Amino acid sequence: EALLSIKDLVKVYGRDTRALNGISLDFYPGEFIVVIGPSGAGKSTLIRCINRLVDPTEGAVVFDGQHMENIKGRGLREKRSKIGMIFQHYNLVSRTNVIKNVLHGQLSNTPLYKSLFGLYSQQDKQEAVELLKKVGLEDQIYKRADALSGGQMQRVGICRALLQRPKILLADEPIASLDPVSANIVMQQLHNISMEKQLTCVVNLHQVDYAKKYATRIVGIKKGQVVFDGPPANLTEPI
Ligand code: ADP
Ligand code: ADP
Repeated sequence: EALLSIKDLVKVYGRDTRALNGISLDFYPGEFIVVIGPSGAGKSTLIRCINRLVDPTEGAVVFDGQHMENIKGRGLREKRSKIGMIFQHYNLVSRTNVIKNVLHGQLSNTPLYKSLFGLYSQQDKQEAVELLKKVGLEDQIYKRADALSGGQMQRVGICRALLQRPKILLADEPIASLDPVSANIVMQQLHNISMEKQLTCVVNLHQVDYAKKYATRIVGIKKGQVVFDGPPANLTEPI
């Protein structure tokens, strides 16, 4: 059964920018999906419609058995807490240390007064340390986020997303600001985590070579429509 089911999704910005023009996709547990396509194809909009950062104009997004387009308020917050997000520009709190940045992802699940005083649960702290070790950041735990390299910052972003124990991970251009060495490390780690935890990952990229190297499934999008969907080996034409 699909973990995430997208049906006939349409997003029109303003009067006539059809960013998504009828997209239907089913994503299954453990898939490492890379969405590729030229700039402006609709990749970001697709991810934003999944976690409802934007409201779709038409169509359905069913995540974990629930229609995302109808829920709001607390129900939406709860569903969103099961969707891990990774961003191009990392979105870390720059003057805060690494472990606190990882714990920040749990804010929605921590009572406000506790998070204000930094009273995170021991279990969360331990798990944050474990995750940081796993991505090779054991020596950076108490460094300020802005003292890290871009690749290290993105690995903090991965840990922050994972600490939420998400059912799905969405990454919007996670390597677009990184050099090739760092980009490969980040993609390899995302791939490994996906395989190890059977965690569904949807990663937006504009570079086909990284998609071919790491994806279990590639979705090609152009002008808001799916133009390719299959294993990397089947992708022989440029998108
Ligand atoms: P991609 O991520 O593939 O580059 P986007 O989803 O960012 O594509 O953009 C798809 C189209 O929608 C583009 O034409 C873009 O200019 C337009 N667009 C994206 N976000 C907005 C917005 N907030 N308001 C208006 N148009 C937007
Ligand atoms: P991306 O790298 O995701 O394609 P862009 O650099 O195209 O993002 O856009 C940055 C921001 O501007 C995003 O929040 C996007 O939604 C918004 N945006 C993109 N295109 C337009 C547009 N034509 N009109 C208004 N906002 C836009």
